[in-house]
Amino acid sequence: MLDNLKGKPWHYKSWKEKRKQFLKDRCEQCGVGNTVLVIQHQKQPCKMQFLFSQAFNNCKSDYYKWSKNNSLELTDGQKIDKYFKMTGIGNQIVQKGFSELIEYLNFSDTKTLCKSCAFKEDTYRINRSMRNPL
Ligand SMILES: [Zn+2]
Repeated sequence: MLDNLKGKPWHYKSWKEKRKQFLKDRCEQCGVGNTVLVIQHQKQPCKMQFLFSQAFNNCKSDYYKWSKNNSLELTDGQKIDKYFKMTGIGNQIVQKGFSELIEYLNFSDTKTLCKSCAFKEDTYRINRSMRNPL
């Protein structure tokens, strides 16, 4: 499946076929049928950038120690890159990012909703994530 990971996931043929299997005939929230139904993912895959900054926060003090003892002729970005490679943190991030993306593509954690319930859920999620960004 990974060999055709190009473009947007929802343009993949396999995605469209899978979607049909998971789409129920009525809204799982309010029970309405005969309307436009959407598949709502309960969990969005983490953005790589977010995973990187999270990982960096976790190893910040170790990184600064290492960075002090290794005053290389590198920019900060190159140093962090080198540190992530050296410690294997970089690989962990990529793997975590991929496994979340695959979970997403496998439709784990989905619900069939009508447009109005989907909208309510989105609004709720956005409000919550603005209050509590992490
Ligand atoms: Zn509904």
